[in-house]
Amino acid sequence: MKKDDNCIFCKIVEGKIPAAKIYDNDTVFAFLDIHPVNKGHTLVCPKAHSRNMLEDDDKDLAACIHTIKMVAKGVMKATGATGFNLISNINPSAGQAVFHTHFHIIPRFDDDGLRHWPQKKYTENEIDDLKELIKITLNNLV
Ligand code: 5GP
Ligand code: ZN
Repeated sequence: MKKDDNCIFCKIVEGKIPAAKIYDNDTVFAFLDIHPVNKGHTLVCPKAHSRNMLEDDDKDLAACIHTIKMVAKGVMKATGATGFNLISNINPSAGQAVFHTHFHIIPRFDDDGLRHWPQKKYTENEIDDLKELIKITLNNLV
């Protein structure tokens, strides 16, 4: 299994750094975020090292999603959360600070004071132009 000796999450997966583990299996590791957005904030990561989900083996990613579905139910029930946000920050521009693939499960509560991101508007034709550009780009990738 791929690992990076300088990666903090690889060290957590290996047990070299303590963490509040809530679940693991052969492929996936789930533990509490040390600085929670809300209490019960959980991180789910593949055990194999990769910088972000774009680099993951598809089987590892599928296992992460499977685990997220199961763990999120437990986190919600244990914390009394009425919802959760599922987020993966990819690259520094998106706020990624730890470069080992991980998914945040952030429990949410009615009136917990957290606000959603502000949204922008497209100018005329911009949405159609961008749709075409992304479709063409995607067709060249697949
Ligand atoms: P990112 O910004 O890369 O998406 O999120 C990294 C997350 O990892 C942050 O929410 C941060 O609080 C958490 N984190 C960083 N170092 C540790 C650690 O040593 N232990 C635990 N449990 N969480 C960590
Ligand atoms: Zn790693």
